Amino acid sequence: MTRPSEQSLQQELDELAAGGLYRPMRIIESPQGTEVVIKGRRLINLSSNNYLGLNTHPRLVQAMVDATNRFGAGSGAVRTIAGTLSIHEELERRLAEFKHTEAALTLQSGYATNLGILSCVLVEGDVVISDEFNHASIIDGIRLTKADRLVYRHGDLDSLEEALEKAAKYRRKLVVTDGVFSMDGDIAPLPGIVERAEAHTAMVMVDDAHASGVLGENGRGSVSHFGLDGRVEIQVGTLSKAMGVLGGYSAGSATVREFLVAKARPFLFSTSHPPGVAAACIAAIDVLLDEPQRIARLWDNTRYFKGQLQEMGFNTGVSETPITPVIAGDPDRANALSDDLLAGGIFAQPIVFPMVKREQSRVRTIVTSEHTRAQLDATLEVFQGAGKKLGLIG
Ligand code: PMP
Repeated sequence: MTRPSEQSLQQELDELAAGGLYRPMRIIESPQGTEVVIKGRRLINLSSNNYLGLNTHPRLVQAMVDATNRFGAGSGAVRTIAGTLSIHEELERRLAEFKHTEAALTLQSGYATNLGILSCVLVEGDVVISDEFNHASIIDGIRLTKADRLVYRHGDLDSLEEALEKAAKYRRKLVVTDGVFSMDGDIAPLPGIVERAEAHTAMVMVDDAHASGVLGENGRGSVSHFGLDGRVEIQVGTLSKAMGVLGGYSAGSATVREFLVAKARPFLFSTSHPPGVAAACIAAIDVLLDEPQRIARLWDNTRYFKGQLQEMGFNTGVSETPITPVIAGDPDRANALSDDLLAGGIFAQPIVFPMVKREQSRVRTIVTSEHTRAQLDATLEVFQGAGKKLGLIG
């Protein structure tokens, strides 16, 4: 029931819904797999970030159960008071080794990691230089700093160079970019970014949420993909997507780690991961090292699925990775495409404003290593029918 004091909230919600910008959440009644059950119907799932199917991998599940039996369900405190267990430190050692960095620090989520870093590394008198399409958690982190902000055109090195020239007068400079852009699936031009930042003595921070487990040797991320080890000060990763669990981390020098321990507010003021989460993340690193065939399958599926969609005439934008948007136009068309797919047994969610520009509304798909060719073919057939019906393809 809406109380009189809440009426303006209800009115705003109604307006969002009328504009196609608010939809009820879909409730999944099964594990997050290549298929999911929603309202009792089994659907092919193209909407998760579970790139490598690790969330149900027996090694991760067992590690979580074992650590829970050994350490309990929760950690009981923030890291700096009494919430640092040996398993948290073990995960950080393993992450640093995996990422070829001196040190790593985990936080509760990728979102908390970006917020934590950006809000403390930069203070008044500093400047942050940010790609215009960076993820919301980067934008929100920047909102929390008193540093000045410069935004460069998406992936545009000349625009970055201009910003760096303007930034000459500042004490501490940080260039920040997604490694893989979460809505379009394109890869940041990292070698050019690093070169220009080095020339201007600026630090670089890369958010590899969608590159972890996807790009680079054994899924080490975009820095590994471009052979830039040692030249990026802060690599952010998430443990919530390809790693199959939950959390975020910063990998870099021991100095950066210590700085974050001293100052990052989500680290200082929010309880650490349950031990089971840390243990499952360690198991995820083991699987990345032991089963590189998962990443090969992910890329095979990506090439096949994206290629077929493009051949049918769909607009998949500038995607180069398993994130394949099918751009539909205004929010109503994206919602209609998603609804038609659902009716045909495919779960692929629409993405509309404010995640993307209104006229760039889309259905975003992500294939995983675990999808079978039969599942992808069935999906493509439904896409073709829905695309023709909505006039997206001829
Ligand atoms: N950065 C990017 C680029 C992302 O896409 C996401 C997830 N939506 C995050 C950070 C946040 O990660 P997490 O879900 O672990 O909070």
